[in-house]
Amino acid sequence: MNIIDLHCDVLEKLSRLENANFRNDARLSASLEKLKAGNVKVQVFAIFVHSDLPDNEKFLAAVRQIEAFHTKVLSEPEMVHITEWAQLDQLEDGQIGAILSLEGCDCIGEDLLKLEQILNSGVKLVGLTWNHENGVAYGASEDPSKGLKPLAKEVVQLLNKRNIIIDVSHLNEQGFFELLPLAKNLIASHSNARAICDHPRNLTDVQIKELIKHGGRMHVVFYPPFIENEKEKTSIENLVKHVELIASLVGVQHIGFGSDFDGMDFSVDKLSNAKEYENLIKALLKTFTYEEVSIMANRGFNKYANKLNLARE
Ligand SMILES: [Zn+2]
Repeated sequence: MNIIDLHCDVLEKLSRLENANFRNDARLSASLEKLKAGNVKVQVFAIFVHSDLPDNEKFLAAVRQIEAFHTKVLSEPEMVHITEWAQLDQLEDGQIGAILSLEGCDCIGEDLLKLEQILNSGVKLVGLTWNHENGVAYGASEDPSKGLKPLAKEVVQLLNKRNIIIDVSHLNEQGFFELLPLAKNLIASHSNARAICDHPRNLTDVQIKELIKHGGRMHVVFYPPFIENEKEKTSIENLVKHVELIASLVGVQHIGFGSDFDGMDFSVDKLSNAKEYENLIKALLKTFTYEEVSIMANRGFNKYANKLNLARE
């Protein structure tokens, strides 16, 4: 079964690790070989800039990761850069679609020109924040009652104009609710259900329902502390519990995956890299039909992307 995965941090590793290669580097959980072995058909590659870098180095760090995307990921002949959503339906056998995303606007400071530059490199998804405060909004680890900053309006307008999907996964609660009526295209690329695991990176039942009501999607993440409270190790069955709850709230058609491979210091047992996707599919098939699992794995997102095509400016 083909997989569409909405989040990995391979670019951060490729830009940092000495002599890293995307094809088969053993240090990568989502190398090209592992993506192929796990039937990953489309992978979103996040630009993730660490918040503890000095401010004047952040934009350059983002540029370095965009460079790694071009020189190390897209240089592999199987990889196809998805810059238009219609390309998802045109991928041939053996090809893997690569989508660029920006995990937080910290690296632009308060400069929209920098955001435009990043979008021009082919970014299709943007999160306003990572876990901390930046010039646009407050992240999930900040005070949940603080709302969007004045600059957020301009940022969202720009993203809407360019038909970019806005990712709520790392946003704090008040920012989330203020963003809902402003954003044209929404997604939670890698978050789980707060009702099962009470972590600020997860969404409450109300947030999940509101996200879907505003046309968004909910992609579950494989990071153990977001699956079971404070756990460094957990099972696929416990991840499936999140999928079951979200399915009961909004239906399987709005659920997908956002592994977070290469962005995690712990992993789910038997789901530690992209190669092991088949273990998740097998576990989901114990609860859901083949049809339902394939909607979660790829068809639901494709349908969503087709709608974005229709909504183009
Ligand atoms: Zn993340």
